[in-house]
Amino acid sequence: MSATKANGHPLATINASSLYFTPLPPTHVVSPGKESHGRYMLTIPWNRVSGWGQPKIGPRQDLTFDPLAGVLQYAVTCFEGMKCYKTDQGDIRLFRPNKNFDRLKRSAARLGLPCEWDNDELLQLFAKLMALEQPLVPNTDGSNLYIRPTLLETSEGFGIKEDAYAGEALLYVVTTLNLGKGLYPSSEPDSKGIKLDACKEFIRAWPGGTGSYKLGANYGTVNISKKPGYAMSLWLHGQEDFISEAGAMNVFIIKEAADGYLEFTTMSLSNGIVLPGVTRESIIELLEDHASGKKDFPIDGVPKKIRVVERDISMPEIIAGLEDGSLKGMFGCGTGVVVVQVGEIQYQSKTYTIPSNPIIKILRDTITGIQRGKIDEGKSWSFKVPEWNPEGKEGDAEEHVTAA
Ligand SMILES: *Cc1c(COP(=O)(O)O)cnc(C)c1O
Repeated sequence: MSATKANGHPLATINASSLYFTPLPPTHVVSPGKESHGRYMLTIPWNRVSGWGQPKIGPRQDLTFDPLAGVLQYAVTCFEGMKCYKTDQGDIRLFRPNKNFDRLKRSAARLGLPCEWDNDELLQLFAKLMALEQPLVPNTDGSNLYIRPTLLETSEGFGIKEDAYAGEALLYVVTTLNLGKGLYPSSEPDSKGIKLDACKEFIRAWPGGTGSYKLGANYGTVNISKKPGYAMSLWLHGQEDFISEAGAMNVFIIKEAADGYLEFTTMSLSNGIVLPGVTRESIIELLEDHASGKKDFPIDGVPKKIRVVERDISMPEIIAGLEDGSLKGMFGCGTGVVVVQVGEIQYQSKTYTIPSNPIIKILRDTITGIQRGKIDEGKSWSFKVPEWNPEGKEGDAEEHVTAA
């Protein structure tokens, strides 16, 4: 929203130095079934009159809303998916966090939620939440603490509103361990890859819709499309059955072009139906730097004659590539799975086997290596979380801790 002033006063922005911290009470017990959740949460309220309120970090707890809150009635909510990684040295890292903050702003703007803040202030607050959960963060490749920032409308979203914008909102951040563990067993390096069901019955996204935003509403409506035995749906669109994404991952097709180049094809962002993934963007950057000679791929084994192509690719084209042998592999990518090989697609009652490609594991190892601080890609993609340990402090159950 563009209103930066209300009642003649500037709207307050997110201010990390006004953080209010509440340590876990000495009597803190983890509720059954919540053992894998981070113990703390960050909350920052917002309202239209004064802007962002005081950020708070305290024990993770339930939220309460009016039954007519916009989030409950009309799914006025958007989120991000990020991860926190631990290096072999024990420090913890975030991967390109500003990319996620910018995307959250885009999603929020699409919903009429507050979408202005200083990413550096938000990052400082994130870093404190992560620092508190530091002991929980696992330190092996591919494992991490999953972070779920969520922004939602808490004011009444019912009836005819004066305009499109929320009156009150809440930004909160919670964490959870081991998300996806066991869900994607086929992301293990020597597996044959996951099975996808190319879905014609349910459409995930369409031009002018919300597919390119991370809105809660995009996910709840397509859950039922997943068939038993398949890891996820391969989303199609258009008469030609163009592929867009799979589940909540971007996809790449590896194909040998007529001129002998190995082409990495992924759907372009231009028609607005694909979620602009941070992992997708990072892979494209690494591949393009390698192809142009700007910087060699951090792990050996990627040929020089490669190119990235952003365009629509249809199921019939994929099948033709399988038949003539030009299709050399397919993978999905996203924060959750990192990089995962696709082994099989079911389409129009036929099963197609996709060849495996060693480059897929190289891409995965490169991304996890950068995330865990083992590979320096030279672009400062990995943000090192500064130490912060206010828990040991004596004092009242609630205390004000300045973020200095
Ligand atoms: C989150 C998401 C992705 C992956 O984005 P990353 O930033 O790489 O995690 C891809 N597709 C959809 C539909 C998503 O929701």
